[in-house]
Amino acid sequence: MLLDVKWAVRWLTMCAEAMAENRAWLIELDRPIGDSDHGENMDRGFQAVLEKLAEAPPETPGAALKLTAMTLMSKVGGAAGPLYGTAFLRAATAFGDALEVDPAGLATALMAARDGIVARGKAESGDKTMVDAWTPAAEAAQAAADGTGNVLAVLVAAAEAAEAGAVATDPLVARKGRASYLGERSAGHRDPGAASSALILRAAVGAAA
Ligand code: ADP
Ligand code: MG
Repeated sequence: MLLDVKWAVRWLTMCAEAMAENRAWLIELDRPIGDSDHGENMDRGFQAVLEKLAEAPPETPGAALKLTAMTLMSKVGGAAGPLYGTAFLRAATAFGDALEVDPAGLATALMAARDGIVARGKAESGDKTMVDAWTPAAEAAQAAADGTGNVLAVLVAAAEAAEAGAVATDPLVARKGRASYLGERSAGHRDPGAASSALILRAAVGAAA
């Protein structure tokens, strides 16, 4: 199996569902170490993506991700909007005009997305940001693609690593973003952007299963 535009549209649709379902949880995570808007931002952003997909159905996975990037940049705001916008744009560029994406292409796109987040936000691993979900996810995806990997195995590896990475932000002290203003008091809370990143990568599995 390869990933085509139907998968991409299903993925983005499942992202929108996940953000709506987890809106309150993401708001709750952003309350103690942020400004309680992350769930609202992500839900609004992905609802707008659904509208754009209906208005102008994309013909390639890359086009679907590019439309998503542009929409998230304009609708999400805050720190997360430009970061996710860059991630989806880099992944779209990596997919190019291909009608179908293979395991190697998928792993390359996930690494490009991670690199885009790092280039834009300048966070390192351990800074308690979405990078702590994306870096292990991209590395696990690469390892799965280098193995016998099929696309579903690559997506599962990425989602599992992102989920573990998000949980592992709990004890960290934030060094980037709004949570860093709290210093040591940011420890003991999960990073909301790492949590939403894991939801996005889990949705990618659901869309391919
Ligand atoms: P804001 O912080 O502007 O309210 P959100 O609440 O939507 O924006 O998003 C916060 C999330 O953005 C954080 O949980 C973190 O994962 C991510 N983030 C913030 N700054 C950075 C950064 N410099 N690099 C990577 N991720 C970041
Ligand atoms: Mg916030």
